[in-house]
Amino acid sequence: MNVYDTEKIYAFLQDSYVPAASSEEADVIILNTCSIREKAEQKVYSLLGRFKPLKAAKPNLLIGIGGCVAQQEGERILSRSPVVDFVFGTHNVDELPLLLEERIRYGKRICRVREDTGTVPTSDAPRVMGPKGATSLLTIMKGCDNYCAYCVVPLVRGREVSRRATEILDEAVFLVEKGVREITLLGQNVNSYHDPDTGAGFVSLLESMELLPGLERLRFVTSHPKDFSAELAHAMADLSTVCEHIHLPVQAGSDRVLAAMKRGYTSRQYMEKIEALTKLIPEVEFTTDIIVGFPGEEREDFEHTMDLLKEVSYQNAFSFRFSPRPGTAAAAMEDPVDAEVKRPWLPELQDLQNQITAERHLNMVGREVEVLVEGVDKKKSDLLEGRTRNNYIVHFPGDPALTGQLVRVKLANSRTIHLIGEMVH
Ligand code: SAM
Ligand code: SF4
Repeated sequence: MNVYDTEKIYAFLQDSYVPAASSEEADVIILNTCSIREKAEQKVYSLLGRFKPLKAAKPNLLIGIGGCVAQQEGERILSRSPVVDFVFGTHNVDELPLLLEERIRYGKRICRVREDTGTVPTSDAPRVMGPKGATSLLTIMKGCDNYCAYCVVPLVRGREVSRRATEILDEAVFLVEKGVREITLLGQNVNSYHDPDTGAGFVSLLESMELLPGLERLRFVTSHPKDFSAELAHAMADLSTVCEHIHLPVQAGSDRVLAAMKRGYTSRQYMEKIEALTKLIPEVEFTTDIIVGFPGEEREDFEHTMDLLKEVSYQNAFSFRFSPRPGTAAAAMEDPVDAEVKRPWLPELQDLQNQITAERHLNMVGREVEVLVEGVDKKKSDLLEGRTRNNYIVHFPGDPALTGQLVRVKLANSRTIHLIGEMVH
């Protein structure tokens, strides 16, 4: 979501600025920040420390802070970091050009953090700058109404508001005309998307996207398991553009912890959705998010998460140590379980997932798959990099001019996070 928002920041500034090659060369540096975990927030301040010498060498350099840390901390950033010229909240991105002008003209440091008004976002905002490749992100809604006990998103991004389907489709057409072949629709809980004009839901949006000429693949993230419906499962099976992969964050395998997190489902209900979707789409792959060490989580609860990991056999899992966030319900919860007892759990879980991921990758060896070429492999420029419909990353020799095309690849080898193959002509 922040990647998409950063493109939007570029778009708002593209009339007056061009992207710089490095922070040393820049006249304006904007940090689009994340506050989902404490570590992300700490990174902002350590980066600001690194910008100090830049500012000393170039006094006209402007440094701005946007995103969730800006929304949460506001004026406190100005007092804590003298190098910062301006702070703008998650609902103030459209004011950016004016804000920069104000700072340059009047020389005063500025903090502009508006409270969420819950209004439907309109696209008088410029379109995202030209996408860089064959794939692109597209935000369909902002905010979240779920208030999971650990999560700061509703506090820094505001109430859930969906964009108009007509505007989403316009943006998708713009992207496809620019050469995009795969779009990932973004929202904190895409399942509860509804068009503010017509009330039509997420499946109806997918059906409209399916009709766009030139769009080969459609993905979406994130689906909240409690709202993942049978209707959506059938749409995934029936719509030819929708890829056979779903990111379905489970967070924990213990029902006691899930209830404390206020997730609104049990591990059995979650598994039923996994099983139903696998029945409809046998080649579907699942990825997930896990939080380890939630307040009150005992070893037995953690074992349930480990069991669930094995039962689902995820392609990949993004796992995090619980991080108390200001203003959330979980930050105020007592934790009778010693932090030292919990410390080894995260690496233990990551080891297990690495094994599962390696097995799933190995399973793919020998198969022939359709790959959308996304560009050259960043580490080995003689190889191309792409993705299968069900989300495996594939590297193979080929001409970079194939970027944006669908090719057939025979998989010959597996590595930790990708597969290696040869194109089939
Ligand atoms: N909306 C998505 C959902 O409901 O699953 C997730 C959005 S959140 C931006 C991404 C992930 O960050 C979550 O799935 C969760 O695993 C993790 N996360 C959120 N708050 C956290 C916290 N306080 N500590 C650790 N991880 C957290
Ligand atoms: Fe955070 Fe996702 Fe829960 Fe919303 S649904 S509160 S974004 S974890």
